[in-house]
Amino acid sequence: MYEAAIGLEVHLHLKTRTKAFCGCQADYFGAPPNTHTCPVCLGLPGSLPVPNKKAVEFGLRLALALGSRIPERLVFHRKNYFYPDLPKNYQISQYDLPLGQGGSLPLGERTVRIKRLHLEEDAGKSLHLEDRTLLDLNRAGSPLIELVTEPDLKSPEETRLFLQRIQALVQTLGISEASPEEGKMRADVNVSVRRAGEPLGTKVEIKNLNSFKSVQRALEYEIRRQTEILRRGERVKQATLGFEEGSGKTYPMRTKEEEADYRYFPEPDIPPVPISREWLEAIRQDLPELPWEKEGRYQALGIKAQDAEVLAYTPSLARFLDRALSLGQASPQALANWLLADVAGLLNDRGLTLEQTRLTPEGLARLVALFERGEITSRVAKELLPEVLEGKDPEALVRERGLRVVADEGALRAVVAEVIAAMPEAAESVRQGKLKALDALVGQVMRRTKGQAKPELVRRFLLEALGVG
Ligand SMILES: [Zn+2]
Repeated sequence: MYEAAIGLEVHLHLKTRTKAFCGCQADYFGAPPNTHTCPVCLGLPGSLPVPNKKAVEFGLRLALALGSRIPERLVFHRKNYFYPDLPKNYQISQYDLPLGQGGSLPLGERTVRIKRLHLEEDAGKSLHLEDRTLLDLNRAGSPLIELVTEPDLKSPEETRLFLQRIQALVQTLGISEASPEEGKMRADVNVSVRRAGEPLGTKVEIKNLNSFKSVQRALEYEIRRQTEILRRGERVKQATLGFEEGSGKTYPMRTKEEEADYRYFPEPDIPPVPISREWLEAIRQDLPELPWEKEGRYQALGIKAQDAEVLAYTPSLARFLDRALSLGQASPQALANWLLADVAGLLNDRGLTLEQTRLTPEGLARLVALFERGEITSRVAKELLPEVLEGKDPEALVRERGLRVVADEGALRAVVAEVIAAMPEAAESVRQGKLKALDALVGQVMRRTKGQAKPELVRRFLLEALGVG
């Protein structure tokens, strides 16, 4: 039996206002090329980098959330390599005193160990045309967190889940949009395969995977490939691979630089950044509730484990749910059901996100509460949902349209009598024991009461009126 050991290097763009070491706007997405640049991020001689305090703070938030060890001072290093979109010919990164070392992220029953996380700057972008290459340096110098895990992940699905968890965590912390589609979250993976119980095998790295799905597919392919090599009794060669989306296959990229090739040395232009315990404590105090803490709280409120997990790790839903819960109108599990089933279904049908609708936590809580108090039937509640999604007030809709449940027995019995009179053939069939005909009668009563009557009650009154049952 063979098993895989997977480790990740995740790059996360920090959503600071300015870049990592200069005052350029960091939000360059969609801006014309080379408009978000200055002498510092262009690497012009004589310019001096100044670390962005917010970027350091954002990194510390993540390090604290993951329980990493944090040094008393940050030291930046130069990582030297030549690439056309790296104008300084080195990248300001961190080496032996990173922002955080150790720590872990819970993943179901297991935890995935974090090796380290550090702060660095991104490179620019090369656009390769047929006869030339264009450079856009808007991205150069934007702040990145690189997060490296131990090879604790065991399958492509688990790796994808881990990435979703990291994404949810940094979004909850408010430090990164972590949107792979905008290049704000990228991952390199390393994977080795071994016979169960044996030491780790030779690892292969797959670079520049820009969606969670690509990560999963690349790993599936690579684990199959390595397993076949081992089965033939051959050895896996260490390599750096790319992944081709179309064929779903990995391909060799280049031989990997050894660490020595980068000639790391301390960045002479940036003195070490002290991290006082007071500063760290203030950041810790300011941390929001973390997803796994949320999950525990939701469960304690009586929300089913599976629902609690999905809600806690979907920051937009968790924010919405927390506000709806704070109103104290509807029960936690009912809100969870509505969010995960009815609302999610409707959003899916319409290709919208929660934020793109005018649904408010108040609107949903009031709708669910009307149903929970028995003032409207579930059918009416579901029918009203699309309008509540457009921002309409459920109570006003119920009032205007007279949709409140017909709780008045006398009124309901009167409608039942009318329907029996109007549908004599169906009524006769039911009297003769053909209960299938009852559905038509129930349907007619529901229509005449605009769905406001409880179907069980209608059934019972009909059977009573027809002398059956
Ligand atoms: Zn700049």
